[in-house]
Amino acid sequence: MMTYHVGAAIGRPRTRTPRPYRANLALSLLSLKHLIVTAAVLLLCAGLCLGFMVSVSGGNGTPEGMRAFPYPYRSMLAICSDIDGTTPREFEDVHKFLNTLDGTEMGPGLGLDVADSFWMYMGSDAAGIADREGNGNEAVMTWFQGTTETVKNAHLIAYYFERGWIDTMHSYGDFSRLDKSDVVFTRMLAERALSALAERDVRPTVWVNHGNEANVQNFEVGNRRTYRQGARPGSDAYHADLTLPAGIKFVWFSDNDRRFGRRDILYPVTLADGQKVWGFRRYTPDWSTYELDRQLREAHLDACVKRELPVIVTQHFGGGYEYQPFGAAARQALQGLAERQNRGDILVARTSRLLEYLRVRDHLEFERSGSHVNILAVDDPQFGYDPNPSLDSLRGMTFYAEDMISAGISIGGEPLPEELLVKAVDETGRTTIGVAWFEADAKNYVWAAAELAR
Ligand SMILES: [Zn+2]
Repeated sequence: MMTYHVGAAIGRPRTRTPRPYRANLALSLLSLKHLIVTAAVLLLCAGLCLGFMVSVSGGNGTPEGMRAFPYPYRSMLAICSDIDGTTPREFEDVHKFLNTLDGTEMGPGLGLDVADSFWMYMGSDAAGIADREGNGNEAVMTWFQGTTETVKNAHLIAYYFERGWIDTMHSYGDFSRLDKSDVVFTRMLAERALSALAERDVRPTVWVNHGNEANVQNFEVGNRRTYRQGARPGSDAYHADLTLPAGIKFVWFSDNDRRFGRRDILYPVTLADGQKVWGFRRYTPDWSTYELDRQLREAHLDACVKRELPVIVTQHFGGGYEYQPFGAAARQALQGLAERQNRGDILVARTSRLLEYLRVRDHLEFERSGSHVNILAVDDPQFGYDPNPSLDSLRGMTFYAEDMISAGISIGGEPLPEELLVKAVDETGRTTIGVAWFEADAKNYVWAAAELAR
């Protein structure tokens, strides 16, 4: 039995450039011959090693013995949407089109796993138009009314969170102010929000910073002293000691990123208060729905497939106030994405699932006995050693195996039933065995939400 600690296998192996060999003029003919033989042997070894590494890792930095993505997909994509300016009606129009297979105003639904973000509060004094009816900020979907403790769309947000159409906290709310020094957010608002979320069992794992410098609730990397004070002990806005223990694992720190698809979406961060968390990168250009076709253009998607890269695309689904949330070109691009998923090209996953997949894949400990894989633990450098990873966190983990008949997967020695296994020969001709990905869910949850307060 061999134990793999695959965490160490991430990224390209570092190769040191050899020092140039200084030929000795006094080298005899005999030792020259010796040298040639030695060099040939070394070259052969290097070639074999290289060939071996390429064959086990696919040359893309994926942990040894694993497929980059669940079979048959060769890339994974999440659309990570900020809730800015989104009313409940816009939210439902968008997700009926993206997530269900029903007929919609924008054409047949696409059945994609795309989740949105949410706000607890509206603390902005900016005048703006939120939707096609001409409503302003007061119409935007938030848990509470303004910054008060009066419940507004709490039922709706909790309902859609539970059904997977919401998975990300877009910080605690919109606190953008016309006067950036007019700060509204305080720790008290975080305390109130967290107790309300816990009461409804809403436990998001993803946090995305929002807005201008008045948004002091935002998180900052390390000890950089900026307006982002959420993790700075001593600040009136400090809340990381409450928010992270409530379940946040992944944080977007407001850094724009122009690279579409990257291996290093996740990066380790230590906050100013010493807590560890995963930072993540999102592709940020063209982040409004009417530019979405530029984000999802064929060249971008082809490159991700070819290089086996995951990508997180930033969006603002409800940010506009056009008659329809998506224009014709964006709808066509989304249809193209759905077709790619249908033909086994790109797996579309909600942000929290994609991030969790990468976190677990890159830090998985497992052992092999023949073609049987036993998953031992997730050895996460940020959150520690987890000897009992849940089935959901292991969804999609896919291994290469020698023999399909005897291939199997256990978790902590407990064999997974056949219905949770995916066995296949992939595009490289090798046998793979994986933990089944989440079951597709294209149910239209809008109907049952009609009764909920909005
Ligand atoms: Zn925002």
